[in-house]
Parts: sequence; structure tokens; C-alpha cells
Amino acid sequence: MIRKVYFFVAVLMTWANCNMAQKGPTIDPKLTEMWEPVPPVVTPGQTNAMPPADAIVLFDGTSFNNWVGNDGQAPKWTIENGAMTVKPRTGGIKSKQTFGDIQLHIEFRSPAEVKGEGQGRGNSGIFFMERYELQVLDSYDNVTYPNGQAGSVYKQHIPLVNASRKPGEWQTYDVIFMAPVFTEKGTLKTPARITVFHNGVLVQNNIELRGPTEFNRIPVYEPHGKAGISLQDHGDLVSFRNIWVREL
Ligand code: MG
Repeated sequence: MIRKVYFFVAVLMTWANCNMAQKGPTIDPKLTEMWEPVPPVVTPGQTNAMPPADAIVLFDGTSFNNWVGNDGQAPKWTIENGAMTVKPRTGGIKSKQTFGDIQLHIEFRSPAEVKGEGQGRGNSGIFFMERYELQVLDSYDNVTYPNGQAGSVYKQHIPLVNASRKPGEWQTYDVIFMAPVFTEKGTLKTPARITVFHNGVLVQNNIELRGPTEFNRIPVYEPHGKAGISLQDHGDLVSFRNIWVREL
């Protein structure tokens, strides 16, 4: 069964590559879930990364000055004790400043009180260029499709290991994101690439993105310029702090 699904997805991906800039048909979202291999669990060491001198600090725990709602309005999320927290169903937020290639540091925390399971537990996400999602999920002892767990490039790449901390504990992502490059005609020249450390442990090693994040489609690149870093409202009380970037 799994082989059949992979074959079907492979056919669709070939189709998608020949049809750049045209969104494919909606498909059953289960077809883009990958359940193997299951990343081994690695208990991380201590992590700490205060911004270096040349960093652009996007969130220092005090205000939403550098952020705007995805709807263009002021963010409705909350700030308390130096952290921002999703206010469910108010929508995602994004940095006002737009970026291409960056180094990003961000800290996140799943709710200490465990509610839900699978994708319904501590779900949020970091969208590079408002399109490419590095998944945020409470993946501590929580089974889901591995290309949708913490450290995954959602529905595209399974993390090398599961370096999740317990719910309620602060975790870090350190990321190198390289923007896709498009020709003047708007065709893809080089795909986006991403390297991710989760709590100091390598989980994505300079991998190529297949296109923007899709829930129930095969990803297809569309030309675009610099864009913000956006954080997802997936209905869970996920918190963030100490967010900084360095442009590359
Ligand atoms: Mg998400």
C-alpha cells in the first residue's frame, strides 16, 4: 500500500515539475504523509543563543513592534514574561521586514498541559518567506507522520532525529535558509535549501525544498521575491521568544 502511495506521489511530483507555476489539483492529504523512517529519539544537551552583535532582533520579549498580523492588522497574540503566545483563531503573524537568505534563531515552547495528539498537539510553524514551513509540534512522545513532526519541513522532509524536549520546556531552532532563485522568465533556477539544528542537534542537513508548503497538494514553485518570516496560528497555545536573524 505504502509503495503504491509513493508511486502515485512520484508521478504527481513529475507532473508538478513539468508544470511550474501552476498549482496542482487538490488531493487526499494522506497521500503526502510519510510514515517511514521514524527518526530515532536523541536527548539534547543545553542550548542558549543570545543574539550576536550583528543580528537583527525581531523579538526581544517586549513588543510586537517588528510584527504584523498576516491580515495586515496589529498582532492579537499575547506577550507575557518575555514570550509571545499564539492567540488561537486570531491568525498567524509575520515579520514586517522581509528577507531572503538568512540565519535564524528562534525559541519555542509547547503548552505544559498536554492536550490532543498527533498534529493537534502544540502545532505551530515557522514559514520562511511566508511559504516554506519548518514544523513546530510537540513531538515528545507523540506519534504522527514523521514528515509532519517537529524538525520536519512540513510534508517534505523527515528530520534526521527527534531532539524534542518535554512539553512546557523551551526549545531552540537554529536555521540556515537559502532562498530559491528564479530566472527572469520566472522559472526555477535553484530550489530553496535549509539546514536546521533542533536544540543544537542537526535535523535537516542542507536539503532541497520541493516548493512551498502544501497540505493537500504537490508543491510547485512560484516565483517570488523577499518575504517575511511568519509564525502559524494552528489553534494551540505555542509560545516564542528570543527571535533574531542574520542576513546572509
Ligand atoms: Mg504547523
